[in-house]
Amino acid sequence: MPYELPPLPYAYDALEPVLSAEAMRLHHDRHHKAYVDKLNEALAGHPEFRDAPPEELLKNLAALPEDLRTPVRNHGGGHANHSLYWELLIAPGGEGPPPSLARELERAFGDVETFRRRFTETGVKLFGSGWAWLTVDAGGRLEIMGLPNQDSPLSLGKTPLLLVDVWEHAYYPDYQNRRPDWLSAWWDIVDWAGVAERLDAAEPFTAAQAPAADAIARGDLPG
Ligand code: MN
Repeated sequence: MPYELPPLPYAYDALEPVLSAEAMRLHHDRHHKAYVDKLNEALAGHPEFRDAPPEELLKNLAALPEDLRTPVRNHGGGHANHSLYWELLIAPGGEGPPPSLARELERAFGDVETFRRRFTETGVKLFGSGWAWLTVDAGGRLEIMGLPNQDSPLSLGKTPLLLVDVWEHAYYPDYQNRRPDWLSAWWDIVDWAGVAERLDAAEPFTAAQAPAADAIARGDLPG
Protein backbone atom coordinates (compact mmCIF):
# COMPACT_ATOMS: atom_id res chain seq x y z
CA MET A 1 0.00 0.00 0.00
CA PRO A 2 1.39 3.42 -0.85
CA TYR A 3 1.58 5.89 2.02
CA GLU A 4 -1.30 8.33 2.24
CA LEU A 5 -1.58 11.87 3.54
CA PRO A 6 -3.53 11.65 6.81
CA PRO A 7 -6.30 14.25 7.12
CA LEU A 8 -5.82 16.96 9.72
CA PRO A 9 -7.50 15.92 13.00
CA TYR A 10 -9.35 19.29 13.08
CA ALA A 11 -10.61 21.98 10.71
CA TYR A 12 -8.08 24.11 8.81
CA ASP A 13 -9.10 27.17 10.83
CA ALA A 14 -9.05 25.40 14.23
CA LEU A 15 -5.69 26.87 15.25
CA GLU A 16 -6.50 30.50 14.40
CA PRO A 17 -5.27 33.06 15.24
CA VAL A 18 -1.96 31.31 15.95
CA LEU A 19 -1.97 29.66 12.50
CA SER A 20 -4.27 30.83 9.72
CA ALA A 21 -6.41 28.42 7.70
CA GLU A 22 -4.47 29.51 4.62
CA ALA A 23 -1.13 28.62 6.25
CA MET A 24 -2.49 25.25 7.43
CA ARG A 25 -3.78 24.39 3.95
CA LEU A 26 -0.43 25.21 2.39
CA HIS A 27 1.55 23.33 5.04
CA HIS A 28 -0.63 20.21 5.16
CA ASP A 29 -2.03 19.94 1.62
CA ARG A 30 1.17 20.93 -0.21
CA HIS A 31 4.24 20.49 1.98
CA HIS A 32 3.25 17.38 3.93
CA LYS A 33 1.73 15.84 0.79
CA ALA A 34 5.01 16.38 -1.10
CA TYR A 35 6.87 14.29 1.50
CA VAL A 36 4.31 11.50 1.15
CA ASP A 37 4.51 11.58 -2.66
CA LYS A 38 8.32 11.55 -2.69
CA LEU A 39 8.46 8.73 -0.13
CA ASN A 40 6.15 6.69 -2.36
CA GLU A 41 8.34 7.44 -5.39
CA ALA A 42 11.45 6.36 -3.51
CA LEU A 43 9.85 3.10 -2.35
CA ALA A 44 8.27 2.31 -5.73
CA GLY A 45 11.22 0.09 -6.60
CA HIS A 46 11.21 -1.56 -3.14
CA PRO A 47 7.75 -3.03 -2.56
CA GLU A 48 9.15 -5.10 0.36
CA PHE A 49 9.36 -1.94 2.50
CA ARG A 50 6.12 -0.27 1.60
CA ASP A 51 4.02 -1.87 4.34
CA ALA A 52 6.30 -0.70 7.15
CA PRO A 53 5.21 2.38 9.11
CA PRO A 54 7.64 5.21 8.29
CA GLU A 55 8.56 5.33 11.99
CA GLU A 56 9.91 1.77 11.79
CA LEU A 57 11.99 2.62 8.71
CA LEU A 58 13.43 5.66 10.53
CA LYS A 59 14.45 3.52 13.51
CA ASN A 60 16.44 1.31 11.16
CA LEU A 61 17.98 3.57 8.52
CA ALA A 62 21.22 1.62 8.58
CA ALA A 63 19.38 -1.60 7.73
CA LEU A 64 17.87 -0.14 4.56
CA PRO A 65 19.40 -0.56 1.11
CA GLU A 66 21.83 2.29 0.53
CA ASP A 67 19.76 3.96 -2.18
CA LEU A 68 16.79 4.20 0.20
CA ARG A 69 18.53 5.68 3.25
CA THR A 70 18.58 9.33 2.18
CA PRO A 71 15.08 9.43 0.68
CA VAL A 72 13.60 7.68 3.75
CA ARG A 73 15.53 9.98 6.09
CA ASN A 74 14.26 13.07 4.24
CA HIS A 75 10.80 12.15 2.95
CA GLY A 76 9.94 9.40 5.45
CA GLY A 77 11.08 11.81 8.16
CA GLY A 78 8.99 14.59 6.63
CA HIS A 79 5.93 12.35 6.55
CA ALA A 80 6.33 10.96 10.09
CA ASN A 81 7.29 14.31 11.63
CA HIS A 82 4.32 16.18 10.17
CA SER A 83 1.88 13.40 11.05
CA LEU A 84 2.91 13.62 14.71
CA TYR A 85 3.05 17.41 14.64
CA TRP A 86 -0.62 17.79 13.59
CA GLU A 87 -1.67 15.38 16.34
CA LEU A 88 -0.01 17.46 19.05
CA LEU A 89 -1.60 20.79 18.14
CA ILE A 90 -4.87 21.99 19.66
CA ALA A 91 -7.10 25.06 19.54
CA PRO A 92 -5.55 28.01 21.43
CA GLY A 93 -6.26 28.46 25.11
CA GLY A 94 -5.93 24.84 26.25
CA GLU A 95 -4.66 23.63 29.59
CA GLY A 96 -0.98 23.58 30.51
CA PRO A 97 0.98 20.40 31.26
CA PRO A 98 -0.96 17.87 33.38
CA PRO A 99 0.60 17.30 36.84
CA SER A 100 2.31 14.03 35.88
CA LEU A 101 4.08 15.68 32.92
CA ALA A 102 4.84 18.86 34.88
CA ARG A 103 6.62 16.73 37.51
CA GLU A 104 8.80 15.07 34.86
CA LEU A 105 9.64 18.45 33.28
CA GLU A 106 10.57 19.81 36.73
CA ARG A 107 12.73 16.77 37.41
CA ALA A 108 14.58 17.17 34.10
CA PHE A 109 14.79 20.95 33.71
CA GLY A 110 14.16 22.47 37.15
CA ASP A 111 10.74 23.93 36.34
CA VAL A 112 8.28 24.16 33.46
CA GLU A 113 9.23 27.75 32.61
CA THR A 114 12.89 26.80 32.27
CA PHE A 115 11.90 23.94 29.98
CA ARG A 116 9.85 26.30 27.82
CA ARG A 117 12.66 28.85 27.65
CA ARG A 118 15.30 26.28 26.72
CA PHE A 119 13.01 24.63 24.16
CA THR A 120 12.25 28.02 22.57
CA GLU A 121 15.97 28.89 22.47
CA THR A 122 16.72 25.59 20.76
CA GLY A 123 14.15 26.36 18.05
CA VAL A 124 15.23 29.97 17.61
CA LYS A 125 18.93 29.08 17.36
CA LEU A 126 18.60 26.08 15.02
CA PHE A 127 20.40 27.19 11.86
CA GLY A 128 18.46 26.75 8.65
CA SER A 129 15.56 24.30 8.54
CA GLY A 130 14.62 21.71 11.10
CA TRP A 131 12.63 20.91 14.21
CA ALA A 132 12.98 21.37 17.97
CA TRP A 133 12.11 18.23 19.92
CA LEU A 134 11.42 16.98 23.41
CA THR A 135 12.42 13.33 23.56
CA VAL A 136 12.66 10.49 26.07
CA ASP A 137 15.36 7.86 25.87
CA ALA A 138 15.40 4.20 26.87
CA GLY A 139 16.40 5.20 30.42
CA GLY A 140 13.41 7.54 30.76
CA ARG A 141 15.54 10.70 30.49
CA LEU A 142 13.95 13.75 28.89
CA GLU A 143 16.03 15.79 26.46
CA ILE A 144 15.58 18.89 24.29
CA MET A 145 17.10 18.43 20.83
CA GLY A 146 17.39 20.59 17.74
CA LEU A 147 17.72 18.46 14.62
CA PRO A 148 18.26 19.70 11.04
CA ASN A 149 16.04 19.09 8.04
CA GLN A 150 13.59 16.19 8.59
CA ASP A 151 15.90 14.14 10.81
CA SER A 152 13.97 12.15 13.42
CA PRO A 153 14.98 11.34 17.01
CA LEU A 154 13.76 7.82 16.20
CA SER A 155 16.94 7.37 14.15
CA LEU A 156 18.94 8.21 17.31
CA GLY A 157 17.09 5.73 19.53
CA LYS A 158 14.88 8.38 21.18
CA THR A 159 11.10 8.62 21.36
CA PRO A 160 9.61 11.98 20.34
CA LEU A 161 7.21 13.55 22.85
CA LEU A 162 6.79 17.08 21.43
CA LEU A 163 8.02 18.85 18.31
CA VAL A 164 7.79 22.19 16.60
CA ASP A 165 8.46 22.91 12.96
CA VAL A 166 10.95 25.74 12.40
CA TRP A 167 11.19 25.36 8.62
CA GLU A 168 10.24 28.73 7.11
CA HIS A 169 7.27 27.07 5.38
CA ALA A 170 5.83 26.41 8.86
CA TYR A 171 5.54 30.08 9.83
CA TYR A 172 6.28 32.37 6.90
CA PRO A 173 2.64 32.95 5.81
CA ASP A 174 1.68 34.21 9.30
CA TYR A 175 4.97 35.41 10.84
CA GLN A 176 7.21 36.12 7.82
CA ASN A 177 10.83 35.86 8.99
CA ARG A 178 10.01 36.31 12.69
CA ARG A 179 10.78 32.82 14.01
CA PRO A 180 10.89 33.96 17.69
CA ASP A 181 7.35 35.36 17.33
CA TRP A 182 6.18 32.07 15.80
CA LEU A 183 7.67 30.02 18.64
CA SER A 184 6.24 32.35 21.25
CA ALA A 185 2.74 31.99 19.74
CA TRP A 186 3.08 28.22 19.19
CA TRP A 187 3.09 27.44 22.93
CA ASP A 188 -0.60 28.40 22.99
CA ILE A 189 -1.56 25.53 20.62
CA VAL A 190 0.41 22.71 22.28
CA ASP A 191 -1.74 19.70 23.19
CA TRP A 192 -0.14 19.04 26.58
CA ALA A 193 -2.48 16.16 27.36
CA GLY A 194 -1.27 14.49 24.15
CA VAL A 195 2.35 14.99 25.19
CA ALA A 196 1.64 13.45 28.60
CA GLU A 197 -0.03 10.45 26.93
CA ARG A 198 3.02 9.93 24.73
CA LEU A 199 5.31 10.00 27.77
CA ASP A 200 3.08 7.46 29.57
CA ALA A 201 3.04 5.21 26.52
CA ALA A 202 6.76 5.54 25.67
CA GLU A 203 8.28 2.12 25.64
CA PRO A 204 12.01 2.24 26.05
CA PHE A 205 13.65 0.72 23.02
CA THR A 206 17.23 -0.03 22.23
CA ALA A 207 18.91 -0.81 18.94
CA ALA A 208 18.75 -4.48 19.90
CA GLN A 209 14.98 -4.30 20.33
CA ALA A 210 14.38 -2.42 17.10
CA PRO A 211 12.89 -4.57 14.35
CA ALA A 212 15.44 -6.27 12.16
CA ALA A 213 15.66 -5.55 8.45
CA ASP A 214 14.26 -8.96 7.56
CA ALA A 215 11.24 -8.28 9.80
CA ILE A 216 10.67 -5.03 7.93
CA ALA A 217 11.05 -6.85 4.64
CA ARG A 218 8.41 -9.39 5.70
CA GLY A 219 6.11 -6.65 6.88
CA ASP A 220 6.23 -8.52 10.19
CA LEU A 221 6.07 -5.53 12.48
CA PRO A 222 4.32 -4.82 15.74
CA GLY A 223 1.35 -2.51 15.85
MN1 MN B 1 6.67 21.51 7.80
